[in-house]
Amino acid sequence: MSGGAGYIGSHVTVELIQAGYDVVVADNLSNCDLTCFEGVKKITGKSDLPFVKMDFCDHAATEGLFSSFKIDAVIHFAGFKAVGESVSDPLKYYSNNLGSFVNLLQVARAHGGCNVLFSSSATVYGEPEKSPATESTPRQSATSPYGNTKQICEDILRDSVKAYPEIKGIALRYFNPIGAHPSALIGELPRGVPNNLVPFITQTAVGKRECLSIFGNDYPTPDGTCLRDYIDIVDLAKAHVCAVRRMLDGQMEQPYEIYNIGTGRPVSVLELVTSFEKVNNLKLNYKFAARRPGDVTAIWADPALACEKLHWKAERSVEETLASAWAWEKHLAEQ
Ligand code: NAD
Ligand code: UDP
Repeated sequence: MSGGAGYIGSHVTVELIQAGYDVVVADNLSNCDLTCFEGVKKITGKSDLPFVKMDFCDHAATEGLFSSFKIDAVIHFAGFKAVGESVSDPLKYYSNNLGSFVNLLQVARAHGGCNVLFSSSATVYGEPEKSPATESTPRQSATSPYGNTKQICEDILRDSVKAYPEIKGIALRYFNPIGAHPSALIGELPRGVPNNLVPFITQTAVGKRECLSIFGNDYPTPDGTCLRDYIDIVDLAKAHVCAVRRMLDGQMEQPYEIYNIGTGRPVSVLELVTSFEKVNNLKLNYKFAARRPGDVTAIWADPALACEKLHWKAERSVEETLASAWAWEKHLAEQ
């Protein structure tokens, strides 16, 4: 698993191990430390879980990984993900997000091929004409270099499976992953000021930030704030197990498949904030602020294809997820 020590990777590692798979976690620790990796070991009781510190842009290191382990499937999480930073430093994003993926595919081919699961994003839909977005909703020109890397990586995978029969691929388009493992031993660890809504909410609640700004309350939505599809991190992780199983069990109907991973339920920013206050029994300091440039008004998933083909659907309620996010923030505060 590339980038496996990060937020999503650590939750996926737990679910894969609990489903009986052997996992190798590889990460260059550019956007995390070993906190979540250690948490994964505690949750699963797997104290000998293999970890390789390496950069997927490094050809020799990637070769070394494939030579040391028998790899049947790769989940590629490695990449940078800060939208704003990708605008100010696009080459950093193109070089890491594209370079690591091309390198990984080249090495996988040289070792006889591989099943490849790619972490894509609902950002590829831009502002869709209508939601829910299905997998055939047209992609729109990316509004950031980060979003562009997601589109290009999808295309790299699509073209590679077409040309090389030894590569099979699935792209999962995540909507908005939030929350933490119910154990509160792993969760999101943003560096610096969080860009995403839920870590900003929890950091405000714990007193690390003074006030949450809700970006825009004049959108054409029922309460004027943006609509998103917030997907619980454990539910999202389970979708990876289903996708890996489909690949390894030879169930794929096409060599390249795409699935939306979301709940199908739109939730507004204000609703999310109110639910957070209610479920955790606290008051959050927030104010309405100007719209954030580049934000789309509304997007949520049609997850029917994932339900039909991956036999997956979101199960945890938004309340449970928000309680888990808060439990994780409190766990961090106790460290
Ligand atoms: P994350 O930053 O927590 O995890 C990514 C990990 O990759 C980090 O641990 C980082 O150290 C590592 N990494 C980066 N470049 C690397 C390289 N060249 N070699 C080895 N390791 C490298 O982020 P996350 O939220 O867990 O996201 C995982 C993937 O899912 C990313 O590709 C991200 O773009 C994608 N995604 C995330 C979201 C989200 O909201 N979190 C939404 C859609 C898609
Ligand atoms: N948001 C907000 N305040 C914040 C962070 C985010 O109001 O401090 C809003 C943002 O405008 C968007 C929603 O929360 O409508 C989700 O934003 P996030 O960055 O978490 O995910 P995105 O959907 O932009 O990828």
